[in-house]
Amino acid sequence: MSSVKNDPVKIETDRSWEASRSKNVTFVVTEDCQLRCRYCYMVGKNKAGRLKFDVARRAIDYLLGARDLVTEPSVVWDFIGGEPFLEVELIDRICDYFKVRAYELDHPWFERYRFSFSTNGLLYNDARVQRYIAKNSSHLSVQITVDGTRAKHDLQRVYPDGRGSYDDVARNIPRWLEQFPKSSTKVTVSSDDIPRIKESVLHLWGLGIKEVNINVVFEDVWKPGDDERFEAQLMALADETIDRRLYETRSCSFFSKTIGAPYVDNNNWCGAGRMLAVDHRGNFYPCVRFLGFSLQKRPALTIGNCLDGLDRNRLRPFLTLDMVSQSPEECLDCGVATGCAWCQGANYDFADTRTIFQRSVAICRMHKARVRANNYFWNRLGRKLGRDLRAEPRGGEGAGPC
Ligand code: SF4
Ligand code: SF4
Repeated sequence: MSSVKNDPVKIETDRSWEASRSKNVTFVVTEDCQLRCRYCYMVGKNKAGRLKFDVARRAIDYLLGARDLVTEPSVVWDFIGGEPFLEVELIDRICDYFKVRAYELDHPWFERYRFSFSTNGLLYNDARVQRYIAKNSSHLSVQITVDGTRAKHDLQRVYPDGRGSYDDVARNIPRWLEQFPKSSTKVTVSSDDIPRIKESVLHLWGLGIKEVNINVVFEDVWKPGDDERFEAQLMALADETIDRRLYETRSCSFFSKTIGAPYVDNNNWCGAGRMLAVDHRGNFYPCVRFLGFSLQKRPALTIGNCLDGLDRNRLRPFLTLDMVSQSPEECLDCGVATGCAWCQGANYDFADTRTIFQRSVAICRMHKARVRANNYFWNRLGRKLGRDLRAEPRGGEGAGPC
């Protein structure tokens, strides 16, 4: 059996930095963006919803001081929008403040932190953004969102006048990959995207983006027959990946050795509650999915604010969440349950009552289709290589749902 390190099969995606050991804090720095992506959950883009430095400073002070409640040994500061690089000068100030305070307090996070960005990539070559990147490069991860081919990207990711943004993003990709060669991109698939999955993953790999994190949306958008179409796309992608030996250099989160088995543990899938999101009012949320603009039916759900800190009573239900407490019987008995994701925010939004303890199973047929295609991939690749790949150790942990 080859060691994981030298294994030529690299198709499984890697864990993110420090994976579940770090505190993940998301600052929503602006509700403004240059684009009006058709699937974006943030409707009503505006310039007023901008984080103030003083709010961020208070949140940092609270989190650095609350050592009894915030015990993680490391931290990932996530900056999102809208488009976060619109506020790069504010972000630079926030990052400097964190570094100085963590140093002054001799806080363990001073040695163990990351700044993380999900960006549309349009400002990547801007001089102010490049200055920020140069200053923080050893503690930085930047993910530019590209949806796939020009046709697929420009269907959704458009300017206010309807023009597609593919060309403006694509021209910044070479510099991004030169500066962050291990970068990944994230693709979300909805019903209309299914016919373009294979070509989109191949296109992103062709651009030099080695790791593609891709998943289906949690909303109940699926039409009859979508699961068969999805399976056919993944099988075609599997064939191409194997025939062109792309599994040696590229990874895609659709393929994983560990999905499609009965549950062996009772863990919650998502990090809501262990993560924290901060909006421009200074309110704390279990995750960005609980802010008002992310929810379709339910009101925003806060778990404290930067003045009073975390509200233990509001936080407690999130910390008690596990798989059994929220899953229906069909999931507990399911033979292909592992890897079947849920999103706490989507569960809260779509539940019959105002609860986080009712798991949505809208992706059920899509997960089963993924499992069938995933089995096809590993069996075909195993036959080609003369190995029982699924009996071997994994190369990396598949990406989580978000
Ligand atoms: S949603 Fe469907 S596929 Fe997922 S665990 Fe439940 S029964 Fe299984
Ligand atoms: S799965 Fe949903 S609620 Fe959980 S961390 Fe991700 S976006 Fe937030």
